[in-house]
Amino acid sequence: MKIIMLGPPGSGKGTQGDLIQKKYGLPKISTGDLLRDAVQQGTPLGKKAEEDMNRGLLVSDKIVTAMIQDRIADPDCREGYILDGFPRNLAQAQTLEKMEDNQAPFVIDIHLEEEEIINRLSARRVCSRCQTIYNLSISKPKIEERCDVCGGPLIQREDDQPEVIQERLRVYHQETEKLIQYYQEKGLYNRVDGLGDIKAVFHRICTLLESEFRRVNKEEAAR
Ligand code: AMP
Repeated sequence: MKIIMLGPPGSGKGTQGDLIQKKYGLPKISTGDLLRDAVQQGTPLGKKAEEDMNRGLLVSDKIVTAMIQDRIADPDCREGYILDGFPRNLAQAQTLEKMEDNQAPFVIDIHLEEEEIINRLSARRVCSRCQTIYNLSISKPKIEERCDVCGGPLIQREDDQPEVIQERLRVYHQETEKLIQYYQEKGLYNRVDGLGDIKAVFHRICTLLESEFRRVNKEEAAR
C-alpha cells in the first residue's frame, strides 16, 4: 500500500509515519529527513536546499521530485511506502501520479488547530544523531537535552524558531492545504484528529488502515 501523510508542520506526520513503518513493515520516506541529511553532509543538493529550508520555504519541486523518484525505485518500496512531507503542492502531487503505477495512494491527513501546532513546534527537540523526536511538554527525554535512544545531544531545528514557524504555516496554507480538496475529489482522502497523545492518534490511524486492508482484500477476493 502507498500511504501519503498530509497535515501541517508539527501535526505528527513523522512520528506516526515511523509507527506505521514499524507495525506494517513499509518504508517511510521523509523528504524533510532526506534534505536535512543532504544539508548535514554538505552535498551540492544540500547546499542548494539549505537556505530555503532555514527560511521555512519549499525547496524546488525539481530537487524533491528527483529525490523521491530515486528513492521509490529502491527494491524495498516494491510493496509500498509511506510518504511523509511529499507531495507538498499540486505540482508535486501530479508528478507523483505520473511516477507511480496505477495503485492509488491512501491519504491520511492529520488535522490540528493552529494554536496547538505552534505549541508543539516550539517545544519540539530532535536528536542530532539519530533524529528521534521529543516534545518538552509531552514526551520529554529522561535526561535533560540527551536522547533516550542513543545519548546524542538534542537540538532545536533551525526552522522551529518562532518566525520560521509562521512562514512554514503560511506556506502550508498557501500550497499544501490545496491537496486536501485535490485528494477529496479523487475519493482518496482520510482525515484523522491529531489531538491527544501519540498512542491515541496512532490507534485512530490503525483503525482506518485496517478497514482499508479489509476493503482491498475483499476486492481482490472478488476478482
Ligand atoms: P519537514 O521535515 O517535512 O517539515 O520539512 C522541512 C523542510 O524541508 C520544509 O520546510 C521544506 O523547506 C523542505 N521540504 C520538505 N519536503 C518538501 C517538499 N516535498 N517540497 C519542498 N520542500 C520540502
